[in-house]
Amino acid sequence: MKLYYKGMLAVHLENGVVTTRTLPVPARPEGFALLRLLAGGICNTDLELQRGYYGFAGTPGHEFVAEVVAADTPALVGRRVAGEINLACTHCEWCRRGLGRHCPNRTVLGIVRHPGAFAEFFTLPERNLHALPDDVPTSRAVFLEPLAAACEILDQVAIPAGERVAVLGDGKLGLLIALVLNAHGYRVHQFGRHAAKLAIAARTGVHTEIATAVLPVAAYDWVVDATGSPEGLRSAIAMTRPRGTVILKSTVHGTVGLDTAPVIVNELTLVGSRCGRFEAALPLLAHPLVPVEGLIAARFPLSDAPQAFARAAEKGVLKVLLE
Ligand SMILES: [Zn+2]
Ligand SMILES: [Zn+2]
Repeated sequence: MKLYYKGMLAVHLENGVVTTRTLPVPARPEGFALLRLLAGGICNTDLELQRGYYGFAGTPGHEFVAEVVAADTPALVGRRVAGEINLACTHCEWCRRGLGRHCPNRTVLGIVRHPGAFAEFFTLPERNLHALPDDVPTSRAVFLEPLAAACEILDQVAIPAGERVAVLGDGKLGLLIALVLNAHGYRVHQFGRHAAKLAIAARTGVHTEIATAVLPVAAYDWVVDATGSPEGLRSAIAMTRPRGTVILKSTVHGTVGLDTAPVIVNELTLVGSRCGRFEAALPLLAHPLVPVEGLIAARFPLSDAPQAFARAAEKGVLKVLLE
């Protein structure tokens, strides 16, 4: 198949400034697919890149739905896909164990040394792609990557069926975690600061509470911190019962001051948790208790990326999409 595209629109992020520019359409290495962006989601990581995290300069974007324009595998061409963001080396110890997300040689779409999805065209290895069912709308499927991050918790810790789980935080990830755990049958208690955001989870049966200065103490065996703040982790530790587990979903940059005594005295388990397998999240795109489209705050064309980033950075704004 011959392609006639020459230039393409791409978002550029450097020194905290988001611009758009015209770049050549990327060449497609062997084993890679050339993808055309249908929708992208701006996440907190993108906003952190804007703040200077990783000293990033280039095209951001790692939450996406795209159409395959060209690929080695003919059956993929024309398919609508989402994709795993870690480009693993496939031959190191971690890759051989099926943990390419921890491959020390990896690059990461739109984050580490691989141009991201906020461009008309971008590339990913074919093995990273997941074809999407036709009946899942693009505006739902764009949540697959953050949903996989929420599902990662259940890959890491075996929470007994029907247990009570506390979730701290009502940002995008906190809401997705609450929805995912609730859809899996856990009794989720979510603590947040915004009634309108908590309402998204409450409508699916999550028990929600506005977090006050006084949070329950030693009340849960399982506590997920998704607040994105150092205080969140301290609260999560205080809320956990002896021998309980705290799952750390907040990426706080810099050092978090922490009194380790309650962790040691109460023999708590701290579990760090990052991104997850798309296979676990894929069925949730069709789940009635996971109404992800309720998280969409605004949609912008790719050419308005500077405005879209500004909107996403406003306090309390949930998911902003680029289309
Ligand atoms: Zn993200
Ligand atoms: Zn590897």
